[in-house]
Formats: sequence, C-alpha cells, structure tokens
Amino acid sequence: MTVQNRANVVVIGAGVYGASAAFHLARAGQKNVVLLDRGPIAGGTTPFAAGQTGYLNVKKSAVSFSRYCIEFFENFERETGYPIEFKQNGSIRIAVSKRNRPDLDAMAAIAREFGDAVEFLTPAGLRKLVPALEITEAAGILHVPRDGYTEPKAVAVGYAVGARDLGVKIHTHTPVTGFDVANGRVRSVHTAYGPIQTDWVVLAAGAWTRNIARQFGADIKSVPVRHQAFVTVPLGGVRAKQPVVRIADEQIYVRPEGGGLLVGGYGYEPASFEMSQLPESFEIPALPADEITRRALRDQAAKYFPVLRDAPIVQDRRGLPTITPDSAFMVSELDRTKGVIVATGCLVGGIHSSPGVGRIVADLVSGRKSFELAPDLLANRFEGMWNDDLSLRRRCEKVYATMYWGIPEILGS
Ligand SMILES: Cc1cc2nc3c(=O)[nH]c(=O)nc-3n(C[C@H](O)[C@H](O)[C@H](O)COP(=O)(O)OP(=O)(O)OC[C@H]3O[C@@H](n4cnc5c(N)ncnc54)[C@H](O)[C@@H]3O)c2cc1C
Repeated sequence: MTVQNRANVVVIGAGVYGASAAFHLARAGQKNVVLLDRGPIAGGTTPFAAGQTGYLNVKKSAVSFSRYCIEFFENFERETGYPIEFKQNGSIRIAVSKRNRPDLDAMAAIAREFGDAVEFLTPAGLRKLVPALEITEAAGILHVPRDGYTEPKAVAVGYAVGARDLGVKIHTHTPVTGFDVANGRVRSVHTAYGPIQTDWVVLAAGAWTRNIARQFGADIKSVPVRHQAFVTVPLGGVRAKQPVVRIADEQIYVRPEGGGLLVGGYGYEPASFEMSQLPESFEIPALPADEITRRALRDQAAKYFPVLRDAPIVQDRRGLPTITPDSAFMVSELDRTKGVIVATGCLVGGIHSSPGVGRIVADLVSGRKSFELAPDLLANRFEGMWNDDLSLRRRCEKVYATMYWGIPEILGS
C-alpha cells in the first residue's frame, strides 16, 4: 500500500470526530484532504457509544453550537448524502432531589431560546411515556421532545462516505508514526506507508490524542476514562419509541435497545488510562469490563426500572472517551506548533457534538469565524494547571464522576 506524498490537510483518526472534521473540511471547499486511521473507520470508542443526543447545554455560549449539532442530526442525509436512523423519541431528565432542579430550569430556559417546546411532567405524565419507569416523587421531570439517539458507527461512516464523495482520500489500517516540524510549523506526517507533506494536521485520535500530541511537545489536558453501558434481553413494558431517560441523582441513562434496555452511567470509582502504559497494539475492544461498575449501574437503574433487577445482559459496551478538567471539549490549533489542530475532550458526548466539532476544525483551517463557543474550547486554557499527570488524572476522574451534577460544584476545587 502507498499513500500520496502531498496533502493540504491530514486528519488523524476516523472516529466520529476525525470523520466529521474530514467531511466539514471538504464541504468548506478544502482540497486534497486525507483521512487516516490505524484501523478501520469507527474502530475506536465510537461504535460502542449509546449514540444519544443531549442538545440542551446549560451554557449560554453553547446555544449556536448546540443548535448546529441537533439540526445536523435532523438533516443528516441531506447534509452528508448518507442516511442514518435518528430515533427522535425525545429525552426525559429527572432531578429526584431539589439539588438537581436548577440545571433543568436552565435547560428549559435555553430550550425557550431555541423556540423548542419542552415541558415539566408529573410522575403520572411520565408513566404514560415510559411505563417501565416507577417514580412517585421528583423535584423536576423535564421532557425534551427534540432529543434522540442513533447508531454511532453509522454516524462516523456517514461522515466518511460524505467526505469521500467530496474528494477526501481515506486510508484505513494506516498508523501515523511521527511528524516533521520546521520553523514552528508542521511539515509532514509519517505513516506506516511513507510520509505525507502537509500544511495542516488534525489530531482526532481519541484516547491516543494526548500521547501523540507529546510528539509536538504539547501537554494536552484531555484524559481517557473508561465508560461502560450494558444492554438487556427484550423486556416486558419497554416501548421501542420511549424516550431516553437520564436520572441526575443516580447519574444514569436508560434507553430502549432491541426490545430491552440500554443502561449506562457515571461515578463509581472512575478509571483513567495512560495510553503509553498499554501495548502499542491495544485496541478498544480489549478494554476489560469493570464488574463492580456493571453491578452498580444495574442496582442504581433497578431502583427506577424494576424490570432490570434480574434481566439477563446480552451486550456490554465500553470504551475510552476523553475528559477535560473543566468538562468542555477541546478544539484548537496548538500554540507552539502551527498547523496542528487538536479535536478531543469528547466528554462522553462525541457523537452528539461531532457536527459542531467538525465545523470548528473546518473554520480554523479556512480562517472563518466560528461558533460563539469556540474561544471556550482552546487547548491552552489549562496552561499552568494540573501540570503533573497524577493531578490531571485525578481531576478528570472527578469531572467524570460528577458528570450529571453540574460542573460549577467542583470548579475551584
Ligand atoms: C458506553 C459508551 C456510551 C457512550 N454514549 C454516548 C452517547 O450516548 N452520546 C454521545 O455523544 N457519546 C457517547 N459516548 C462517547 C463517544 O463514544 C465518544 O465521545 C466518541 O466516540 C469519541 O470519538 P473520537 O473520534 O474522539 O474517538 P475514537 O472513536 O476513539 O476515534 C479515534 C480514532 O483514532 C485512531 N487512531 C489512534 N491512534 C492513531 C494513529 N497513531 N494513527 C492513526 N489513527 C489513530 C483510532 O484507531 C480511532 O479510530 C459513549 C461512549 C461509550 C464508551
């Protein structure tokens, strides 16, 4: 196999972030874009995701970014030329305790800015939508009809096919092994099949991004943390069209899958990983499951979905999403090596955020003004903070552990 020896942009990683970046670059008119992956398309964490959207961010500056993401999913085929099934069943966010109610109010306010009809439900109203869910009291139950979920691998493949149709060259099973830098700018990418001279590199290598960025002398503060979910056998009372349910106090999400339920969640002694300590041949499917996490997830969820108590599990999903110290993504050009853009820190929301992240990458390369949110996503925002690996990992684990409780509580800690 050979690769061409010259490109304008080389995108590293054909997960949902890299594939979206390649698509958006080509759609913005960039010529001679190459998308590389050391494995197949969507061979990393992407295919294991629950594929849910959650477009109501509580941050005001995220409105235009979030709008772009949800509208992209609603029009995925028109945008990329490739159909995906976006099951827009809506979502339910439950604050059992008063502590978690303000987040729901903030989301409802943002929804009003979108002009979207969200509503607070009573437990009885909720039961009509999700009969398998038993809850008698809650501080807030927010119904967001515009949310949904999709098959994550199809999303990455859809971007890649759309990118290819616009002229992007895709090389799978082509690991990137190094780079040449001269006068503070990236000049070429080394691959297992030879070097490619280039003006721009997009580093969207998921869990491996932090590691690869070290080759540029960059300390990217985005750490892989294991995330798990499981799927049960078909269960009585589960409706195919029921919404995704997120329970803030338990930090779990539950949605229908194949007649049963898919259950995932946060907390439970998170485990971060340093990829350089794993063998070079490590692949995401080799990530061991944490049995305690699985049991905790089931116990938490069964309090509200009693059908889960003894339900046989037919599938485990797990992977290494990347977490940042402030719970915001990271999409920006490196300060010290021009031409290198990192797209990482997916925060277990990479499927949902992929349209916006890909668009920011294309805006950076094309020199276009981007979303209002973009300045909040700079990679250098943690300079001078969490400088040693251990404190960085502990911080990101803490962010992961409190994902549904609102980050303000841990900021400053
Ligand atoms: C159980 C579970 C549930 C989830 N649920 C959701 C959800 O409901 N909604 C949501 O939005 N997100 C969800 N996520 C998160 C989502 O999966 C991630 O945010 C997303 O997949 C991250 O995509 P990525 O492109 O950054 O990384 P990846 O998919 O890991 O892609 C990185 C790619 O880089 C390649 N690569 C690495 N090193 C090299 C190299 N040297 N050369 C070439 N290529 C290289 C890898 O092979 C890989 O294909 C979930 C994740 C898990 C595990």
